[in-house]
Amino acid sequence: MKNFIQNLNKAEIHLHIEGTLEPKMLLSLAKSNQVKIPYSSIEEVQNAYKFSNLQSFLNLYYQGLAVLQTEEDFYNLMYSYLQKAHLQNVKVAEIFFDPQAHTSRLIAWQTFMNGFKKAMIDAKANLGINSHLIMCFLRHLPEKDALKTLEESLDYRNDIIGVGLDSSELGNPPELFKTVFKQAKDYNFKLVAHAGEEADHTYIWQAIDILGVDRVDHGNWAIKDKELMQRLAKDKIPLTMCPLSNEYLKTFKVQKDSYPLQTFLDYGIIATINSDDPAYFGGYINENFEFIQKQLNLKEDTLKLLANNSLQAVLR
Ligand SMILES: [Zn+2]
Repeated sequence: MKNFIQNLNKAEIHLHIEGTLEPKMLLSLAKSNQVKIPYSSIEEVQNAYKFSNLQSFLNLYYQGLAVLQTEEDFYNLMYSYLQKAHLQNVKVAEIFFDPQAHTSRLIAWQTFMNGFKKAMIDAKANLGINSHLIMCFLRHLPEKDALKTLEESLDYRNDIIGVGLDSSELGNPPELFKTVFKQAKDYNFKLVAHAGEEADHTYIWQAIDILGVDRVDHGNWAIKDKELMQRLAKDKIPLTMCPLSNEYLKTFKVQKDSYPLQTFLDYGIIATINSDDPAYFGGYINENFEFIQKQLNLKEDTLKLLANNSLQAVLR
């Protein structure tokens, strides 16, 4: 089964580049950039990666980003991920990044964008892997910050294919970002949003009806609403599911009788498998496929369908 999964051609469409910061890189950047972090060994970092919910993860995640300082740091982060994705037979990756998590630390757009872009060009040339950027707005910050970020991004309009919405979901519903998504649509960005990960199915309705997203990230809680599942299927709005993330953050039990994946597929929804923040959740895309295969006892034809869905769900 491992080989079968390895050989599937696939796209990864729910991956936060900042979530690929492996403990080893975290420690070495902390040292070279002289950034104080509360860990001194890989074991200590790994011990800290025990989460009780989404927020407990996010606290650690933002703390870790402090080590990313130079264009070269962003280059190495991106290139390392693309190398791993290529080794797992990912043909195209649509990659989230959080500009506000860097500009708030006074890192210039030029620093992270140049690093990312150069790595993506080199990975295409050396490995043949295609990749595109989607910038996410941090939903725990006000919409006016997102609007400012959108304006700033226009210098890089041709380097970014879409906008998304991530960070703390509960209490920060999609409708709060209606204006910035409308504006992004006017600028011809594709639209995606995290919805229905921790918060309920009403957030998914808002993402599709109020924001008008092309894809929903996670979307697990659509399981509570038949009409919503029918709508996702009818309008071919893909869901980007992340089983190891759900398991690590305890947002959804990944077991045969409770996990919604099979029901979504039965409804004809374009459900896909992704790794979210692989450095924190125990594995990249193939480990997610292996985990879900084992937990739900999936057969080869379902795994093939999931991989085909990912290729169908790409924004470009
Ligand atoms: Zn995510």
